[in-house]
Amino acid sequence: MLQAALHHVPVIVIGAGVSGLAAAHAVKKAGVGVAVLEARDRIGGRTFTWNGFGLPLDLGASWVHGTEGNPLLDSTEPPLYTGRLYTEDDESLHHPRTHKRLEPEDLLKYYTIFETFLGELAERQKNHVDASNDQSVQTWLGGKLKEVVDEMKEKGAADEEVKEMVEIVTAESEAYASMTAADTSAATVGVDWNSYGGEEGVTDVFALDGYKVLVDNIMQDVNLSIGIDILLSKEVSTIDYTSAATTAEAAAAERVVITCKDGTTYSCDHVIVTLPIGVLKAHHGALFQPALPERLASAINGLGTGLLNKVVLKFDKAWWPDDTDFTSLFLPKLPPTFLPSHGPFTPYPIYPLYIVNLQRLLDVPVLMILCYRAWAEAAETADQWDVVGTIMETFREAFGGEEGVEVTEPVDVKITKWLSDPYSLCSYSYVPQGHGSFRSIQDSLFLPFHEPVAGVVGFAGEHTSETDWSTVHGAWMSGRREGERVVRSVVGKGDAEGKI
Ligand SMILES: Cc1cc2nc3c(=O)[nH]c(=O)nc-3n(C[C@H](O)[C@H](O)[C@H](O)COP(=O)(O)OP(=O)(O)OC[C@H]3O[C@@H](n4cnc5c(N)ncnc54)[C@H](O)[C@@H]3O)c2cc1C
Repeated sequence: MLQAALHHVPVIVIGAGVSGLAAAHAVKKAGVGVAVLEARDRIGGRTFTWNGFGLPLDLGASWVHGTEGNPLLDSTEPPLYTGRLYTEDDESLHHPRTHKRLEPEDLLKYYTIFETFLGELAERQKNHVDASNDQSVQTWLGGKLKEVVDEMKEKGAADEEVKEMVEIVTAESEAYASMTAADTSAATVGVDWNSYGGEEGVTDVFALDGYKVLVDNIMQDVNLSIGIDILLSKEVSTIDYTSAATTAEAAAAERVVITCKDGTTYSCDHVIVTLPIGVLKAHHGALFQPALPERLASAINGLGTGLLNKVVLKFDKAWWPDDTDFTSLFLPKLPPTFLPSHGPFTPYPIYPLYIVNLQRLLDVPVLMILCYRAWAEAAETADQWDVVGTIMETFREAFGGEEGVEVTEPVDVKITKWLSDPYSLCSYSYVPQGHGSFRSIQDSLFLPFHEPVAGVVGFAGEHTSETDWSTVHGAWMSGRREGERVVRSVVGKGDAEGKI
């Protein structure tokens, strides 16, 4: 019955992450027939609220980036994230070599230097620094650090003080960029999170009740239901648009034919592809018939795939200091059993961890630890207890000497595997160095996704947002953009590209 109903659908959306659900929401709300094919046995994609420790914990996205005008908080049609938010922001930073917590005045000193750098990067973006100046964050930062070093030396600073500044500001930049600074374009750092930062820049707020709240709200608003509108465990293996690409008069039933790994086949007039950038990079050659045009292939190949994983540790009781919400700490090494699998994620002398104190946020003795790039890859390929052991070794050095602190071992652990998960193959996109100014980056890497191929194959997903890639709100807005474009096209108010 279900198969028959799905044999031909006006619009098919591939992927039930936030962008796919946004697209399906827009199409269904307009009264146009839509079906979503999702490979996993759950919806939400890279938002995933997990209940394994007895309370909702987000193993994918956790923060809403920017509170001023962010649709995730402001939208009423539909309401999106309506759960509780954690808005406190008490942070601490540990020395990258000694692992000891910095005094508040030192923290302020180094943050101020780093914030100044970020301000200058923002100016570069606004002014569309040209291609010849498109440097990696690491190269750019090296130049800025040298200026600060020279100034400190002129003022007679001791060598040790200068070294510490370089170490901490470099480490802080690593943690901030969430990726190896070696190849991230200095023309883009921070742009993706900044749209709704208001005058003061980004205000990150933590979605305490989990992103499932947002997913449920989208579903309920237009009665999207699993098994009827959304089919799970449907891994799409080919998207054949030969007919639309070669014959202007292609009959609707022939325009796009989609085949799933289980052998089922569906056809539609329009498809909206929300496959993650990692999946597109690995499989676009085999997925699309005919091959995607060069503008899209080169955007897919040009974007970078970042990696962030979470190590969630559950303890009998909270032993750590209770005066900070978020702690940045640096690991000196990878776990011994680490096997590089997908890389290359450049090994770095120190590896940043960003630790969320869920005792303060949710009143549970749990630490949610974010790790990036090489360490994130290590976390998902090394032996689980080896990963935990390496983290605990540094925790003992970092906190062991603090008064009243007795470090105990975790009783349970959950580690995410976003890189080896075949349905993500990364955490989110980033822009590698070498694509010119911010404006040319938008033109060559993001905007090609906005023009449907042969008028029938559209793209949505965080990696298609020219201002908000790598975020949930970027994913939402991209799905909405494509859903509305297809509706305009189907209801006949526009041409095949949906332009009115
Ligand atoms: C660990 C982590 C932390 C993050 N933290 C934040 C944060 O704090 N704040 C923030 O704003 N963003 C964060 N992000 C990014 C954010 O989660 C993503 O940008 C966003 O969820 C992407 O949504 P999407 O719809 O583009 O892709 P996805 O959610 O990945 O949706 C794509 C869907 O396609 C499906 N799919 C894949 N292959 C196939 C196939 N062959 N056939 C059918 N379906 C397929 C997938 O299963 C998936 O459901 C984080 C991401 C990760 C991984």
